[in-house]
Amino acid sequence: MDYDLSPSERAWREEVRSFIAEHVDEALGRETREKGNEGRGPRARKFLDALRDRGWWGLAWPKEYGGLGKSAVEQWLFIDEIETAGAPMLPLTATSVAPTIMRIGSEEQKREWLPRIQTGSIDFALGYSEPEAGTDLASLRTRAELDGDEWVVNGQKMWNTMAHMATHNWLAVRTEPDAPKHKGISMMIVPMDAPGVSVQPIWVWPGLRTNALFLDNVRVPRSYLIGERGMGFYYAAMALNFERLSIGSIGMARRHFRSLVSAVKQLSRDGRPLREDPWVRERLARLQVEIDAARMIGLQVAWLLDKGDVPAAASSMAKIYVSELTQRIADTGCEILGLNGQLHAEEPTALADGRMQWLYRIAPMLAFGGGTNEVQRDIIGFLGYGLPRK
Ligand SMILES: Cc1cc2nc3c(=O)[nH]c(=O)nc-3n(C[C@H](O)[C@H](O)[C@H](O)COP(=O)(O)OP(=O)(O)OC[C@H]3O[C@@H](n4cnc5c(N)ncnc54)[C@H](O)[C@@H]3O)c2cc1C
Repeated sequence: MDYDLSPSERAWREEVRSFIAEHVDEALGRETREKGNEGRGPRARKFLDALRDRGWWGLAWPKEYGGLGKSAVEQWLFIDEIETAGAPMLPLTATSVAPTIMRIGSEEQKREWLPRIQTGSIDFALGYSEPEAGTDLASLRTRAELDGDEWVVNGQKMWNTMAHMATHNWLAVRTEPDAPKHKGISMMIVPMDAPGVSVQPIWVWPGLRTNALFLDNVRVPRSYLIGERGMGFYYAAMALNFERLSIGSIGMARRHFRSLVSAVKQLSRDGRPLREDPWVRERLARLQVEIDAARMIGLQVAWLLDKGDVPAAASSMAKIYVSELTQRIADTGCEILGLNGQLHAEEPTALADGRMQWLYRIAPMLAFGGGTNEVQRDIIGFLGYGLPRK
């Protein structure tokens, strides 16, 4: 593999960097921190609108659907730059749901949903998990039955993270109760304002909100079942593969690592500059090497994609490595900063932007978001090394 970027890739990265320099400032960072995932503030909306106006919501979409048709390496560069800058990331509606609809939807469905996604007039929550169906998604029980020209949906979804803000839900439902469990699921779009839809908040450790979603005789038009009946399990896997592309980026953790290094340069402990402490130097050097390795693994996955490979094992490696490295950065950061590492950004004396405690709380989520690391290790075993599945 040639790790050097081509002139056009370098020009693209410069374009992204100058966009960021023009549109990202401290006020946007503060607003994003304060909001958590409780909706987007005016600055985040303005930033995402500016991205959309440039056509960057569809940067990875094929040109025939109004996208820019950028390569996987160019997407990787974009994600890396946006995350490193701490700017709001493109919604999963544009990066996971839309590319799936493009591949599986009928022409009519593409015409109906893609332009609305591209203009930002609709936004999806992702409704895969249920109380008894997480990793084993094929066990899901929410069911949809056809009644005339409408589906009637009943059941409960769990961890439906954006449900309290989204206009629609991208829902996995059982439509073929007599088929083998992997073949009885379909993907369906459910408007959040349909009668019978209700949302209950669940607050989790990093201070984020997710939700339980209840569906009680919810009626949706027949045409809202996307793609083929009974193929939903495979469509959900496809959408999750798109989702994993951004989870495998080290940009966010790299930004916090840089703040940690700046804090270490300023700090003294017991009258001695912390930067002279061999233990601190060794830890930081080791993390820097690992961050560079994580970037190379991410870039390699993108390069394999551009070559036409399906790098399932390599993308699982990237996901595991990035999520566990993020935890190591947070652990080390909290250890080096000591009690100060527990201060929040609003505290005037907080070092490393007061985000080390937040990184420590959010990092475990990366280890199961988009598929748990245990399962990713299994994928590496059987797809990467040809080991038996069981
Ligand atoms: C904050 C938060 C936000 C989320 N947001 C969403 C969302 O928006 N939409 C959505 O659909 N879901 C969402 N999820 C759900 C998330 O994807 C699931 O939690 C995840 O898939 C794991 O499922 P589970 O919690 O049922 O755990 P389980 O599947 O019960 O797994 C428990 C443990 O057992 C291990 N395990 C299970 N099966 C195997 C196996 N075959 N081999 C080896 N190990 C195994 C797992 O790795 C894990 O460590 C969210 C979860 C949280 C906590």
